[in-house]
Amino acid sequence: MEINEAIGARPVWVEVDLDAIAHNIIRLREIIGRRTRLLAVVKANAYGHGAIPVAKTAIEAGAEYLGVISLDEGIELREANIKVPALIMGYTPAERAEEVVKYNLTSTVTTEEFGVALSRFAVERKLTARVHIKVNTGMNRFGLPPVEAIELAHFLRTLPKLKVEGLCTHLATADEVDKSFAKQQFQLFLQVAQSLPWIPLRHVANSAALLDMPEMALDLVRPGISLYGYRPSPFSHRAIQLKPALSLKSHVVHLHWLAPGDGVSYGRTWVAQRPTRVALAPCGYSHGLPRALSNRGLVLIRGRRTPILGRVCMDQCVVDVTSIPDVQIGDEVVIIGRQGEEEINADEVAQLSETITYEILCGISARVPRIYLKDGKIVSGSLR
Ligand SMILES: *Cc1c(COP(=O)(O)O)cnc(C)c1O
Repeated sequence: MEINEAIGARPVWVEVDLDAIAHNIIRLREIIGRRTRLLAVVKANAYGHGAIPVAKTAIEAGAEYLGVISLDEGIELREANIKVPALIMGYTPAERAEEVVKYNLTSTVTTEEFGVALSRFAVERKLTARVHIKVNTGMNRFGLPPVEAIELAHFLRTLPKLKVEGLCTHLATADEVDKSFAKQQFQLFLQVAQSLPWIPLRHVANSAALLDMPEMALDLVRPGISLYGYRPSPFSHRAIQLKPALSLKSHVVHLHWLAPGDGVSYGRTWVAQRPTRVALAPCGYSHGLPRALSNRGLVLIRGRRTPILGRVCMDQCVVDVTSIPDVQIGDEVVIIGRQGEEEINADEVAQLSETITYEILCGISARVPRIYLKDGKIVSGSLR
């Protein structure tokens, strides 16, 4: 299949290299011991890459667990017939406990009420509800303080058909230069874990901890950003070769010449000083190209970097092609990815738009069609 056929001739699309994701998982697995399991974090539509194809690839490459943030994300996996254990790492309303049990999802519990509801539906359906308890050790976002977490664990242990399988916490500063607070959080977590030795899966490590403090791997690690080929921050130092998996691409759909004095896009924030040839790419902030890249960003055309002129619009942006010979309608425009010898990765886009790589990847809208590549061949397309 040709790319154009796979995307139904749509002018903006995402390509996801599933081999890159498998490669990254294999590299990450080399850091952790054999007895540590890997939970692939596929929340937020797998950081914009597409939850289902990424989850399937991650499992094939050796992930034993999947991590999502909400019940609905978990249901999406089950409806795609993905059966491996999946942990809802965020909050679930107790009213939806029956669905958690029905879809055989593992949930994070911070209240007795939710635990009781899970146990009740598990008894009714003759199933087991598996739960993890989240300890707040200093992130102060979700989770219970140590003493309450221990009390909750003891209470949940008494409920029928409910298994307390995991104990976890989340680190606030693992991706910073100074790891001292992360180490304090880890020590506090270990103290809680010591008083609950009957809980089998203890887990703490996101990508940053996994890369730079592998002693925190414990029974399970929860990498997200590193699966997709990026480091959590510039302060992550481990020598590891990760491969970015996602490209965002478009086509030149219109070309014209500007005379000196002609302005480009809303507000005419860029004005031609000399005759300038410009190309239109039908990709804008509604697709995930940050508006902050107005007059700052770059794209690749014919293997060359070239600037975005004027404001990025909702669905379109204008680029300078004066110095690129022979540009034609239909030429590929790379916003994130490689072309020839050149590459613009999501770290660079994030830096130019003064945000983090995570936000760039997650910000690629679900309506942009994704196509999936394996061994350089298209294996599937989605046209949502
Ligand atoms: C998102 C998330 C992760 C993954 O973090 P990365 O920095 O992307 O590796 C791990 N654990 C929890 C609880 C998360 O919410």
